[in-house]
Amino acid sequence: MADLSTDIQYIKGVGEQRAKALNRLGIFTLQDLIAWFPRRYEDRTQIRRIADLAEGETACVAAMVASPPTVTHIRRGMDLVKLRAVDDSGVLDVTFFNQTWLKNGLRSGETYIFCGKAEGAHQRRKMNTPIVEPEGRQEVTGRIVPIYPLTAGVSQLVLSRSIRQGLDACAGILPDVLPDAIRQQHQLCRIGFAYENIHFPENPEALALARRRLAFEELFLFAIGLRRLKNRREVVRVAPCGDVDMTPFYNALPFTLTHAQRRCVEEALESMRSGLPMNRLCQGDVGSGKTMVAAACVYFCVKNGRQAALMVPTEILAQQHFAALAPLMESLGVRCALLTGSTLAKAKRETSAKLAGGELDFVIGTHALITGSIVYQNLGLVVTDEQHRFGVAQRAALAAKGEHPHTLVMSATPIPRTLALILYGDLDVSIIDELPPGRRPIETYIVPGSYHPRVYNFLHKLIDQGRQAYVVCPQVSGNEELSDERKAVTEYAKTLQTTIFPELKIAFLHGKMKPKEKDAVMQAFARHETDILVSTTVVEVGVDVPNAAVMVVENAEMFGLSQLHQLRGRVGRGEHQSYCILISDNQNEETRQRLKVMAKTSDGFKLAEEDLHLRGPGDFFGERQHGLPGLKVANLGCETKLLQEAQQAADALLEESPGLEPYPTLVERVEQLFTQNTFN
Ligand code: ADP
Ligand code: MG
Repeated sequence: MADLSTDIQYIKGVGEQRAKALNRLGIFTLQDLIAWFPRRYEDRTQIRRIADLAEGETACVAAMVASPPTVTHIRRGMDLVKLRAVDDSGVLDVTFFNQTWLKNGLRSGETYIFCGKAEGAHQRRKMNTPIVEPEGRQEVTGRIVPIYPLTAGVSQLVLSRSIRQGLDACAGILPDVLPDAIRQQHQLCRIGFAYENIHFPENPEALALARRRLAFEELFLFAIGLRRLKNRREVVRVAPCGDVDMTPFYNALPFTLTHAQRRCVEEALESMRSGLPMNRLCQGDVGSGKTMVAAACVYFCVKNGRQAALMVPTEILAQQHFAALAPLMESLGVRCALLTGSTLAKAKRETSAKLAGGELDFVIGTHALITGSIVYQNLGLVVTDEQHRFGVAQRAALAAKGEHPHTLVMSATPIPRTLALILYGDLDVSIIDELPPGRRPIETYIVPGSYHPRVYNFLHKLIDQGRQAYVVCPQVSGNEELSDERKAVTEYAKTLQTTIFPELKIAFLHGKMKPKEKDAVMQAFARHETDILVSTTVVEVGVDVPNAAVMVVENAEMFGLSQLHQLRGRVGRGEHQSYCILISDNQNEETRQRLKVMAKTSDGFKLAEEDLHLRGPGDFFGERQHGLPGLKVANLGCETKLLQEAQQAADALLEESPGLEPYPTLVERVEQLFTQNTFN
């Protein structure tokens, strides 16, 4: 009998061939298969009359094929199958491209369901390449149909048939990780019903129930996992840090810290004096001055006679931090070093030896800091910057280098408090909610696509003045096929280069490039060797290019406010007046309102709250935001209220049973979730 870890190739009706294709999606086990959730659904339950079809609408009709289909060969690689179908209201001309097998597959005199976009009006109604199946089969029409994320070589039908087989194979053996009492108290459906209806919803109500249950479960497992991490730490005792006179540090700064910065420093020092290992998140908007909060903590730790490390996700960030911090810290007697992937082997060995021998106090670097060969004499504090790029796994790996060092995690992604509770349940949170004085707000404009010539003129003018610009270009919207962001970026860059700005230097950046290549492009941009950087959202990571003064975002409606805010934060980092231009042709009233909020406020927390309010929590649940495994179902839309319910349920259960002994399947799932490696 099958269990959830069964290899899918042994599932009845899947087989070796399909299994291979599914493997490419990362589906290996029965568990993977049934947890491959639809991206969205199409309601194909309504059958319409041909005469009632409005032009441009997507709909299903039940119509009889009136004459045998004909095949026309247009040219190589282009064959058309045409037929005429009728119902009692009218006539529909149907054309299929390159599906010649349908010539024999569709028989005249029989009735089929055609589902597609209606074109033409009155006597000339047409459909091009509709979805078709015999009336009564009800596999791809006549029901709410799941639409899955795909890869080449796997079709919707293959996927949904495999999942059907998978669900049948695990009928009755699905373990329910939610204790019955919690299920009843929160009115959640049973696990079997949930899996059945998330894939093959009987009706919209059943789908809503299934979704609610699975989203709750996901959030609940998360909350349990993070709480357990926190509890585990709270039994560890460390030698408390002693008091340190911070005056020399403050006096060495070229400015006075803001109140918010001071408060965050105080909160962190308090934790380090407590005798428990600190595990703190410092959240602050871009430009709020998180680096100096980190530096203050480093100073405090080093003056306590222990070493400190600052870990960042990219080489270039490491260099920027080193350039900004090393002179300051050295002047205060803190011995500093830089350690990255490109540090030469000899230098690396030296640094490593000095760290082991206690001849260095503070090291800044990339994940080279946590590779096995680096040994610290007495690591007391680990700061990770832009933490959403690091997973729990790395945080843990670095922490393991010391005797429970204090950890401080810096994030520029403002997360509303309700969400922070779930996403950062294992951390204490400090918030820098104030910007240093004297910042010039970034001027933000929302313009339609017809403004492109003006936008380009504007870019030209600023670049002539010596500035640089970012253009974030449209992500090919991720519909059926996994989107090809690479193509979007390279083609946009090419067009700009050849037809708009032949005399300027244009570079591009996308997520499919190797980290080394990305770094090189960023470095060149930072050195002003290029004028315009065309990019996907990968440019979000906190690199400082003070000379960049314009951020143009194409198809701005496709981004959440928080994301737009992150992008906008890439400019306005120097003395120049900076601009953010959001291009959108979207006429939807809600979308326009949303974009207008961007022009009105520059407060990241307000924007995050607004996002949560308008779009739900999904945007915040991507892996990138917090370095935890991405939430799959909750991501598809759940209410904030459900989040609170899940959190409360987790707290209540742990209160009643701290070790969770009566719930072995629950514990197993939580551990699975938290040992997944999230490093990319
Ligand atoms: P982020 O929070 O985005 O990491 P940074 O730490 O890079 O922000 O700080 C942004 C800029 O603001 C830096 O140039 C830094 O020197 C400056 N800065 C930080 N704190 C203050 C302050 N209290 N007063 C004036 N400038 C500050
Ligand atoms: Mg920063």
